[in-house]
Amino acid sequence: MRILYVEDEKYLADAVKHNLEKQGIDVDHAADGEDGLNKAVSGAYDCIVLDIMLPKLSGIEILERVRERKINIPVIMLSALSEVEDKVRGLDSGADDYLAKPFKTVELVARIKALLRRPAAVTDEVYRYGDLEYDASQKTLNGETLTAKEAGIIEELIKADGKLVAKEYLLSKIWGEEAFGEENYIEVYMSRLRKVMKNLGIKTQIKTMRGLGYKLV
Ligand code: CA
Repeated sequence: MRILYVEDEKYLADAVKHNLEKQGIDVDHAADGEDGLNKAVSGAYDCIVLDIMLPKLSGIEILERVRERKINIPVIMLSALSEVEDKVRGLDSGADDYLAKPFKTVELVARIKALLRRPAAVTDEVYRYGDLEYDASQKTLNGETLTAKEAGIIEELIKADGKLVAKEYLLSKIWGEEAFGEENYIEVYMSRLRKVMKNLGIKTQIKTMRGLGYKLV
């Protein structure tokens, strides 16, 4: 497993790199946004850990450019500004997860492993519901590439075949043990999925059952 870690605070970068390597994770470090972007599009990594506040290019800009190129690598955003706005912006730009600074390395390792576990579980199966077609091996919805969490959510909704999927079930299934504190953000993913579906001209909709969960109609 090789990850790219983009972080301009040298002391933090050295400490995190050291701790990740102790866990058997190879780490390439980039100290600014430009170097980060060049490395990020190289295709050499399993996951990118991206600080938001960086010299030259911000983490958000790197992420946007990576996603523009249809590179579907898992990305975890880091930010000292633990503002909801920041988190939503990161997720909106196509991040798979978000970690507020300061964080414990063990938490970062758990999130990296959680993101990398999912692709290993993919099958060749294609799921359909109404005019939706989700390809689990490509993580595409009607041909459009989704981020890891969006893909996980749509897969669960399609498998439920129009029945209610409880919010708690989705949280534990997609976020696993890291679900704590994520309750408020599931709606962010839902609105992104709805936007994707609308842009694709899909008629099937994700309906929010207030306080219960979600279903396809
Ligand atoms: Ca920084």
